Amino acid sequence: ESKRRNNNGWQHYSEDLARSHREKLQLDQLMRGALTNQELHLVYQPQLDLHTGRVIGAEALMRWNNPLLGAMRPDVFIGRAESTGEIVRLGAWALNETCRQVREWLDAGLPQIRVAVNVSYRQFIADDLVGTVVKALEHYKIPPRCLELEFTERVLIEDEPETTRIFAELDELGVSLAIDDFGEGYSGLNYLRRLPIHVLKLSQLFIKGVPGNASDVAVCEAVAGIARGLRMTMIAEGVETDIQRRYLVKLGVPVGQGFFFSPALTPKRFVTYLRAHPTVR
Ligand code: C2E
Ligand code: MG
Ligand code: MG
Ligand code: MG
Repeated sequence: ESKRRNNNGWQHYSEDLARSHREKLQLDQLMRGALTNQELHLVYQPQLDLHTGRVIGAEALMRWNNPLLGAMRPDVFIGRAESTGEIVRLGAWALNETCRQVREWLDAGLPQIRVAVNVSYRQFIADDLVGTVVKALEHYKIPPRCLELEFTERVLIEDEPETTRIFAELDELGVSLAIDDFGEGYSGLNYLRRLPIHVLKLSQLFIKGVPGNASDVAVCEAVAGIARGLRMTMIAEGVETDIQRRYLVKLGVPVGQGFFFSPALTPKRFVTYLRAHPTVR
């Protein structure tokens, strides 16, 4: 920082800008090769019935390991992929790969669980999302109730008639539809009455402070009330302690995920986890 204050401050500043621009371009370029070079994989974070501890499903989360850059953090590379539009290809891959994995687990005789995949708002606008989902379900013969799609509220501020049609078609297929990071969002609540949404995933922002922080408690209670009133399932994400878990059970929140139970696991370790824990079905 001190170098910005000397006489060459502006020069250093523009060098920094140029470097960060170069780094972005390099990131974008390497990301375009990530699929063909098989640098992507999915990890699976268990989702549990908070009361009984039974496993009800998992969330698939993308990981990118590049030989040059190493392991990239999803909040960095997903954000970049959303800016460049690359997320459309990556997201379609994640959907397909999740279905392939679920088929493998079903064939191995593992209990049937539901796996959630994150869908970016860009996939909504650019891709034939319904087509991608239908193709993956049919190709791997996946019961639609085994698949959940997680959308952020950002999806809901895009073109309205399109959104309504896509949600209706996905609902018709029988897949489960979830709003991710609920409460962090951009939008109002009107869409909750209009759209076929089955699951509200309360943002981990509001789990952090319960049960000690009064405003976090107020948000948790309000969202639990909305979910109950609209007959949606609520999932608490970012559950890190048993104190949080017990609070959420008292509040009537049925499902949770978080480091208290398990981080996201490689497929192999997830199978070990499944074998060691009772499941709902
Ligand atoms: P998200 O969908 O809200 O996923 C939850 C994130 O919280 C994951 O981070 C998970 O590892 C982390 N997490 C889980 N339990 C805990 C906990 O107890 N404490 C804390 N502090 N964190 C916890 P991750 O894997 O780094 O992913 C970050 C975000 O990147 C995701 O947030 C999602 O928005 C995005 N993302 C990841 N994979 C995909 C993908 O395949 N497609 C799209 N479109 N986005 C993805
Ligand atoms: Mg998610
Ligand atoms: Mg989330
Ligand atoms: Mg998030």
